[in-house]
Amino acid sequence: MHPHLKEVLFTREEIAVRVKELAAVISQDYAGKNPLVVGILKGSIMFTVDLLKELSIDAEVDFMDVTSYGYGISSSGEVRILKDLSTVAHGRDILIVEDIIDTGNTLLYLKGLLEERQANSVKIISFLDKPAGRKVAIEADYVGFEVPDEFIVGYGIDYAERYRQLPYIGVFNQEFLIKD
Ligand code: 5GP
Repeated sequence: MHPHLKEVLFTREEIAVRVKELAAVISQDYAGKNPLVVGILKGSIMFTVDLLKELSIDAEVDFMDVTSYGYGISSSGEVRILKDLSTVAHGRDILIVEDIIDTGNTLLYLKGLLEERQANSVKIISFLDKPAGRKVAIEADYVGFEVPDEFIVGYGIDYAERYRQLPYIGVFNQEFLIKD
């Protein structure tokens, strides 16, 4: 385990099993369709790629980069688009792939935006769900794992751009917070 973590919540092996299960359900639910899988940068990079590899249906992939955190560890509530889709959303079956839902602000904003663009359908898959953090009414259609109200890193998810490369999910030890 990385020395800046308090504990590992999900190992690489547990993640692989869960991703396969989720991909099987999605392949069934989207049978005969060609969904546009929209990975939300950068936290969902590993999950998006692993999920795509396990799908047994045709799918396209695109990415959006949004931020609501800056370098702190609590959501500002304000969502900004740093990179928009390169694909036209109109008429598409869109599956938003998120790393973690906390307050729900990011996903509420994104879902609304893609619906406004007249996607045929907009569903959400979030690798992690932190229900204790929810401030707005939104839920993912598919969830990998529930997590406690702690600051999570690993498997694409960062603290100040660090720890994304860890192949497992862990709880960050806040003794290692960057202080200015
Ligand atoms: P929300 O808008 O739901 O509050 O937060 C969504 C985004 O906040 C996630 O995509 C993620 O980037 C970030 N976030 C929420 N909880 C955590 C956490 O425990 N650890 C990290 N590193 N980021 C988080």
